[in-house]
Amino acid sequence: MPTIDALSERLTEYLDPQQIRQVRRAYFYAEEAHDGQRRKSGEPYVTHPLAAASILATMHMDHQSLMAAMLHDVIEDTEVTYDGISSQFGDSVADIVDGVSKLTHLEFETKAEAQASNFQKMVLAMAEDIRVILVKLADRLHNMRTLGAMRPDKQRRIAKETLDIYAPIAARLGMRDVQIELEDLAFQAHYPMRAKYIRRAVVQARGQRKDVISSIQETIEQRLRQEGLTGTVTGREKHLYSIYSKMKAQNKSFSEIMDVFAFRVVTESVDDCYRVLGAVHNLYKPVLNRFKDYIAIPKSNGYQSLHTDLFGARDITIEVQIRTKEMDAVASQGVAEHSHYKGYSGDSSDSAVGSYKRARKWVQGLLEMQQRAGNSMEFIESVKEDLFPDEVYVFTPKGRILELPAGATPVDFAYAVHTDIGNSCVSCRVDRRLAPLSQPLENGQTVEIITTPSAQPNMAWLNFVTTGKARTAIRHFLKNQQRHESIELGRRLLNQFLSKYGSNVNDIEMHKLQPLLEEASFNSIDDLLEDIGMGNRQAYVVARRLRPESDESGDGGRENPLAIQGTEGMVLQYAKCCRPLPGDEIIGHISAGKGLVIHRTSCRNIGYLRDDPDKCIYLEWYDEINDEFSVDLSCEVESHRGIIAELATVATSMGADLLQIDIDDHEGKLAKVNMEVQVKDRIHLARVMKKIRALKTVNRIQRC
Ligand code: MN
Repeated sequence: MPTIDALSERLTEYLDPQQIRQVRRAYFYAEEAHDGQRRKSGEPYVTHPLAAASILATMHMDHQSLMAAMLHDVIEDTEVTYDGISSQFGDSVADIVDGVSKLTHLEFETKAEAQASNFQKMVLAMAEDIRVILVKLADRLHNMRTLGAMRPDKQRRIAKETLDIYAPIAARLGMRDVQIELEDLAFQAHYPMRAKYIRRAVVQARGQRKDVISSIQETIEQRLRQEGLTGTVTGREKHLYSIYSKMKAQNKSFSEIMDVFAFRVVTESVDDCYRVLGAVHNLYKPVLNRFKDYIAIPKSNGYQSLHTDLFGARDITIEVQIRTKEMDAVASQGVAEHSHYKGYSGDSSDSAVGSYKRARKWVQGLLEMQQRAGNSMEFIESVKEDLFPDEVYVFTPKGRILELPAGATPVDFAYAVHTDIGNSCVSCRVDRRLAPLSQPLENGQTVEIITTPSAQPNMAWLNFVTTGKARTAIRHFLKNQQRHESIELGRRLLNQFLSKYGSNVNDIEMHKLQPLLEEASFNSIDDLLEDIGMGNRQAYVVARRLRPESDESGDGGRENPLAIQGTEGMVLQYAKCCRPLPGDEIIGHISAGKGLVIHRTSCRNIGYLRDDPDKCIYLEWYDEINDEFSVDLSCEVESHRGIIAELATVATSMGADLLQIDIDDHEGKLAKVNMEVQVKDRIHLARVMKKIRALKTVNRIQRC
């Protein structure tokens, strides 16, 4: 069994004593936190994080990664919190542990096979620090090695997830050793019979293959010596899962795949690589179109090598990979190898370098490598997309993954699901908790939209939505809505002025209407009514032109007042200066682009209009109005502590919401209080004021 002392001994190879002490401290902290817990296999729990850290030590990962590996399960499985870890070991370590815990949490969600690649992206997106992924992979690798202790159904689930998500991520990061081990372990757990069959076939084939391999190997080595080239030649055996995938994907038989013999030549320099290539092409005839130069054009994960296929004797194919020692190290460990070179390990300042910066550094490293190789930006772009995505990935309640731009809100989510959902959404739950519709979503959250059939999009949503789809849908809805409301208001306004002539919109004579529509290039009377409702055209002017022949002489009497229902929508506004209430005498005017603005008849701002029958619109309240109205009140009180609470209690007890209150008590004993309350109508207001006036400390109260 591995011990912390054995690990510390190995760490002296590349870490300094101070760093090793910190790794040991993290180990003992984890041992205490997990005290009493055991793995399914019966071993003390701490053996697992120790094994994960040892895997990372093999890759020469920095001391912070090792510390995080030691602690990676304490937030999830013990009482220890993020703050506990950060105060003991610093923010960087705590952030990595936190990131790993979040990924662990994701495993319990449902996942459809089709979304595996989205899920991979989500995992990458959730880890701003690449080390989160490396710790997670080490965790998963050790769990796969010890999978046998689990229940069979659990084994299968974890194996499937490993094949779908974690092995491809390892491949994406160029960590070939980890990828191969994960794939073979998962393959055997998920398809035990198929794995057994292929393994047996490989063992049987191995005997004859051995001779072929050593003979080809000798031939190549001999040729290299003749040409004065140095290089180590090794024969490679394909791993089980890659044989299986090839059989499945390329529909090949086992023996067809076994007729391919693979070799690797590792040399000193890039120049040598191309010389070795020349030598083997001289030796065996190359297969057309099978040569790939990944040295000049590295793969997106930084992999570099020359690949070529050759015709061997007796119908066999010889695959050869040629690369330098450095490339070979990157090919087996990928990012991990690179981070080692690019100095995570020399970096001891905890907070000075954020995780983002460190990941950035890694990309920078790849960029330099790319520049040395002197080629296309494409692979950098793809790496950047993986590490700094502009997307967030969130779940629907059924487990489907949606990809949204960073900063997207639940409203964007709702419209992404369906326009109707967006148009009727009223609130939402994020990870089962009620959340504001404007709250930006984070990776991995589950979002549930709550709708009601009568709901409508809100103009204010335009201030926070980020997707074009949501924006367009909201605008479209509001525009339609506004047109509809404008037409209705326009119809009522026109009717009001036509009533002076004993006419109405339905009675208009066509020969009067037609020229008017043509003049303004309107297609229908609705366009005209909309224009009136929007305030772009005066209703009395239109009414005068459309009045019946019989009444062309004069202007008739005063029109009937227009009844306000409170449901007119966006084309109706209550003036902020006098805040009219149902029960107040009111008067209105049309303001271009805004529609109808309503004032109290007594309002000073409307004085100039009051006696202009053309411009002003006579209004009255509809009998039943179901709405809330804001009014301003001012009162004089005897200043004392608790006055705000007292006023708020009274207002609330009367069913009137207190929207705002402020106190000006510079006057000494007497203070002036301004407040805004929400009431149903004039009678409701009167009751509220009466109750407030009854308070002992209130001297005076009035509506502003
Ligand atoms: Mn674990």
